[in-house]
Amino acid sequence: MPMTDDWYALWRELPDQHRNPIRTYTVRDVRAELREIDVDVVVHPVDGPASIWAETAAIGDELIVLGPNALHEGVHGGVDFLPPPHAERILLAGDETALPAIAAILERLPATASGHAIVEVPHADDAVCVPSHPGFTVEVLARHGLPQGELLVPSVQAAAPGLLRSGRAGSTGQTELGDVDVDVDMLWEVPSDDHGGPAQQAAPLYAWLAGEAGVIKTLRRHLVSELGIDRKSVAFMGYWRLGRAEG
Ligand SMILES: Cc1cc2nc3c(=O)[nH]c(=O)nc-3n(C[C@H](O)[C@H](O)[C@H](O)COP(=O)(O)OP(=O)(O)OC[C@H]3O[C@@H](n4cnc5c(N)ncnc54)[C@H](O)[C@@H]3O)c2cc1C
Repeated sequence: MPMTDDWYALWRELPDQHRNPIRTYTVRDVRAELREIDVDVVVHPVDGPASIWAETAAIGDELIVLGPNALHEGVHGGVDFLPPPHAERILLAGDETALPAIAAILERLPATASGHAIVEVPHADDAVCVPSHPGFTVEVLARHGLPQGELLVPSVQAAAPGLLRSGRAGSTGQTELGDVDVDVDMLWEVPSDDHGGPAQQAAPLYAWLAGEAGVIKTLRRHLVSELGIDRKSVAFMGYWRLGRAEG
């Protein structure tokens, strides 16, 4: 692994047989003093280097962790939850790959925050990973073999209008969205200001959605094009794509 500032360009130039796989994960927790991080890895039914690693790794195995450094002066990136300081409500929605992020967000939000968190997971037992929050309705939907998004999409569609509080949506009217081909391009829109902070100071609703790109695309269309929620108040992230390996 090239360990210089231009590591990414050098890594891309490596011959296929030497280019080690890179996958993207959420840091669920950090214990800097112990030099420890927690990462929750979904072991999914289709083989991929990260899920195979999670199943076979033994203590002492090495891996390289690349991540943002909070000590870096300037925008260090890495945090894509940027609600306006005065968001009346927050909608968090995602699948099992977004669960570590949603759980960390719920744990860090002040008790005065309010909203709705909806997480679709493979099994009912996975609910144990989702914390509660005094101001949030937390819904955990167990898929039990149903297709990805089958439960998440209707639940978000049912919850969003109520969160917009009788039409005070910060609604910009229906917005036409350019189509994103999730098999080719990344579905990633995180509104921010020039310094990596929230794009707005206040909003009636801030929505944060992450998970399988096709599912998130459907939700994005619903919230922005159909409900007319201001694009500056919604963050959408395709974390992975069904049938396609990362990278
Ligand atoms: C910012 C960000 C944060 C993320 N955080 C987490 C996290 O904390 N925990 C986590 O588990 N994942 C997380 N992901 C998703 C993770 O990066 C992908 O699931 C990744 O593709 C897994 O790599 P892999 O090597 O196992 O599979 P890949 O080699 O990428 O893919 C191989 C095959 O597996 C399929 N596949 C990939 N992921 C899944 C899945 N979850 N379920 C079913 N099939 C799948 C692909 O469609 C492909 O067909 C995050 C992604 C991003 C962009």
